[in-house]
Amino acid sequence: MNIKENLSQIKSQLPEYVNLVAVSKTKPVSDLMEAYEAGQRIFGENKIQEMAEKWEEMPKDIQWHMIGHVQRNKVKYMAEFVNLIHGVDSLKLLKEIDKQAKKHDRLIDCLFQIKIAEEDSKFGLSEENVKTIIASSEFSELENIKIIGLMGMATFTDNMQQVENEFKFLKSAFNNLKRHTTLNFKLETLSMGMSGDYKLAIDCGSNMVRVGSSIFGSRNYN
Ligand SMILES: *Cc1c(COP(=O)(O)O)cnc(C)c1O
Repeated sequence: MNIKENLSQIKSQLPEYVNLVAVSKTKPVSDLMEAYEAGQRIFGENKIQEMAEKWEEMPKDIQWHMIGHVQRNKVKYMAEFVNLIHGVDSLKLLKEIDKQAKKHDRLIDCLFQIKIAEEDSKFGLSEENVKTIIASSEFSELENIKIIGLMGMATFTDNMQQVENEFKFLKSAFNNLKRHTTLNFKLETLSMGMSGDYKLAIDCGSNMVRVGSSIFGSRNYN
């Protein structure tokens, strides 16, 4: 596994407007440093504690993205440094992020996670849920968070037609919701696509891809 080569190979295939999140969950800091030395500055993790440990050890010009499901009681461990939280799926969670961001005098950018997969295991909101949240007075009172986009995860399947349909569904929700802009809601980022489907995702309108195994190799969860 040559991380530097993998990175440059992937980056050569990305249009310049597409941001690459290097998904480094389960990987040691030495692997992340290889990517860092090759110029990578955005890293994605799915466990808050693991991300906080890596943040402490690594250079401070890295942008840390939380891409996993967020437990409210752990938001406090990342509020000081996290750059983008991809998986926001409730107003309750957003209020906690706002509260913790305030303690550090920060504005934390977030994405609403939209449920696009058929699998019940995947989290997320519907377009209607988002409309309800952003129309509420509780949401408009949140001054330390800003929703800058949407995130989605397609079904885990070899059926690329299904994956394409799910990506197109998310892109259309993005276009619809983009018409609504408030002080803390302005959609610009569409986070969709992983190692197996990022090219398709870009063709469907993604401007942020989250790529792990194609950069760092397969993960070992033992
Ligand atoms: C692990 C993960 C990825 C990266 O998956 P790969 O298939 O290794 O590229 C992307 N997004 C989320 C939310 C993940 O949990």
